Amino acid sequence: MNNGNELQIAVLAGDGIGIEIMSVCLEVLDMLCRRTAAVKLDVVSMPAGAGYYRDTGTALPQETLEVARRADAVLFGAMGLPEVRTAEGTEIQPQLDLRLALDLYAGVRPIRTIAGAPTPLADPRAAEIDLVIVREQTEGLFSDVGQARVRNDAVAVDRMVISRKGSERVVEFAFKLAEQRKRDGRPGHVTCVDKANVLASTAFFRKIFKQRAELYPEIKTDCMYVDAASLNLVRAPWRFDVLVTENMFGDILSDLCAGLIGGMGLAPSADIGDEHGVFQPCHGTAPDIAGKDLANPTAMLLSAVLMLEWLSHRHGIDALNQAAHLLESAIHRGYSEGAIRPAEFGGPDGTRAVGQKVIELIENA
Ligand code: ATP
Repeated sequence: MNNGNELQIAVLAGDGIGIEIMSVCLEVLDMLCRRTAAVKLDVVSMPAGAGYYRDTGTALPQETLEVARRADAVLFGAMGLPEVRTAEGTEIQPQLDLRLALDLYAGVRPIRTIAGAPTPLADPRAAEIDLVIVREQTEGLFSDVGQARVRNDAVAVDRMVISRKGSERVVEFAFKLAEQRKRDGRPGHVTCVDKANVLASTAFFRKIFKQRAELYPEIKTDCMYVDAASLNLVRAPWRFDVLVTENMFGDILSDLCAGLIGGMGLAPSADIGDEHGVFQPCHGTAPDIAGKDLANPTAMLLSAVLMLEWLSHRHGIDALNQAAHLLESAIHRGYSEGAIRPAEFGGPDGTRAVGQKVIELIENA
């Protein structure tokens, strides 16, 4: 917290549709803060991303990292462009460096049905989907990102690293979240997703999960192999509450679950550590629709909701929670009443139009 009730937000819009959805998000936040008088947000926009790397040779400048480190929270659009790649052929993804630099070990991906948005599931219980994936984000199968491991053009190796410390803290986070959700009326259940039948690394993760579970007798638990979890998430996603898993499994399951509630444009996320929080949509830069005013900014706006809730909790400012609630309910009302009809689902509303409608819904709340 800077002075009085002013909070500094570092904004990293990035590449592709990240730029368009961030612009809408900042307009909405500006209006929301004026309307609720919750706090003043001091927004500092900083460069980073694949485009910046192409122009300067650096993807995440030191100054950007320092501003992000000093800020009360970071709002992040999306980064990466298919044509900008490392020598190993991978995309430039400074978000991974940011996660490590700020030690954002818990990737929180809430998946909740938005009434009025199309779901691919025919079962009416799809209306009840309300789960959270907690993805470990500092190790796992992403441990070797950025370190060349291709040998003699013959073998490529990426290691799966699971540490006790890394696992305990993310599992602990998942149980605390389940406790919080239980207080809010959810079942209080954590599912450990792993591949313990094959990979010793994730068998170790499961062992640590079971040890921590003993500290939370009120919370129900089960363990599921990642392949079975993929099946069950499509078959009956309404049965899940909180899932905790390693980095790569969480990455894949997040996209699968975004698909269950309609699409990438609806799934928000929060990257949380003990000291920092970065809030960004689950989707990437979507180069196929970038610059065309076609991107759905809803996931970005819901990520801003997560940011306001986190800031409220962290600084004890209840008005921020009310602002979060106002924004979230405006979005849900917009979909359920048919006021918001994004181009992502064949509707007429482009990126800016969705933002404008959310602003009108907040004004009329
Ligand atoms: P990454 O690998 O970083 O996840 P990507 O470009 O491979 O990035 P996404 O950007 O997540 O994948 O998107 C996959 C597809 O989903 C896009 O090509 C786009 O058609 C669609 N999509 C993603 N986000 C949105 C959005 N906000 N609005 C509309 N469509 C989207």
